Amino acid sequence: MALIVQKYGGTSVGNPERIKNVARRVAASRAQGDQVVVVVSAMSGVTDHLIKLAKEITPLPSEREMDMLLATGEQQTIALTAIALHQLDIAATSLTGAQAGIVTDGVHTKAKIQNITPKKVHALLDAGNVVIVAGFQGETSEGHITTLGRGGSDLTAIALAAALKADLCQIYTDVDGVYTTDPRLVPNARKLTEISYDEMLELAGAGAKVMQSRSVEFAKKFGVVFEVRSSLNDNPGTIVKEETKSMEGVVIRGVALDKNQAKVTLVAVPDRPGVAARIFRALDEAAINVDMIVQNISHGTPTTDLSFTLDKPDLPKARKVIDALKIEVGYGEALVSEQVGKLSIVGVGMRSHSGVAAKMFETLAREGVNIEMISTSEIKISVVVDLAKGEQAMKAVHKAFIG
Ligand code: ASP
Ligand code: MG
Repeated sequence: MALIVQKYGGTSVGNPERIKNVARRVAASRAQGDQVVVVVSAMSGVTDHLIKLAKEITPLPSEREMDMLLATGEQQTIALTAIALHQLDIAATSLTGAQAGIVTDGVHTKAKIQNITPKKVHALLDAGNVVIVAGFQGETSEGHITTLGRGGSDLTAIALAAALKADLCQIYTDVDGVYTTDPRLVPNARKLTEISYDEMLELAGAGAKVMQSRSVEFAKKFGVVFEVRSSLNDNPGTIVKEETKSMEGVVIRGVALDKNQAKVTLVAVPDRPGVAARIFRALDEAAINVDMIVQNISHGTPTTDLSFTLDKPDLPKARKVIDALKIEVGYGEALVSEQVGKLSIVGVGMRSHSGVAAKMFETLAREGVNIEMISTSEIKISVVVDLAKGEQAMKAVHKAFIG
């Protein structure tokens, strides 16, 4: 008898029919003699709707009360899922995050799990129940309800799988698994049978988000192997696990295009200690998340050019910060472009194969795509290109490395 944790996301429980479908899947696992813990998200759109309601009252609602409010979304789905299982004659009991023993710190709306004591879960499983746990929520040691940040049901599932020492953790979603690239844009995209935690994290950072990144980091830290698969068919999904030697045989695991970035270039920035520190501290204080940073060496002049990328929606905030720094820092001018895309290739095989960057750049050259910025990590190469050529570049690079 195996213990399985299954997580179903918002689309998979998006309406009563879908919830009945989830119940049938859980029933099938149960029929094989397995113990099943189900983690569910709120029905799709519910969390957004609740946020909207609060914002209609005030733009800055209390974060404690937001957690109280948002936690109700998942509570609806756990009860509905239990009811659907009862209709199939399966003993099932729903639990809130707090009832499942999930204790977090007190940072409302983005709480971190501190420990899990799943006593009730064990007792209910032992009594023959399917246990359905509300994703995305926990409580502080003082008993205040908290939430784990958007997309946090993934984290609930992974953390519960770790705490329960589950034999299997399945993340059911509306895609078949993790693909080599976006199959809507590139028909040749292939579903991966396996991917390492680090590749999954780099792909998420590159704009191909399948799961909440914190949950993948958590899985890596605690060695939770999990499978990403569809709740709408029976196709095998993608296994996410620690890197193995054989994974290095594949040079590039995936290609991603992030169209949500903007590029800022500060021209003629004084080349002296403390300037970059001042600029990026000011951006950080405005809660602007900077991604790529490129600075040139200056030749004989006391100035240099400094470019960086950030999330497009943060651009208005960033402009304010940059304008405010103009006199203090004394740069020449600020050039801003929203017409950029960040194209990335990711793969642990890069560590042992040479010429990967050259091949990527040659491919782009053949397509007549100019590279505006380059940055690399041990297992990723990212370039910033003209947005209008982004998809063409992505297809060509996918073809060159993956087929
Ligand atoms: N319902 C929450 C959200 O929409 C958590 C989740 O879906 O994982 O962010
Ligand atoms: Mg979700």
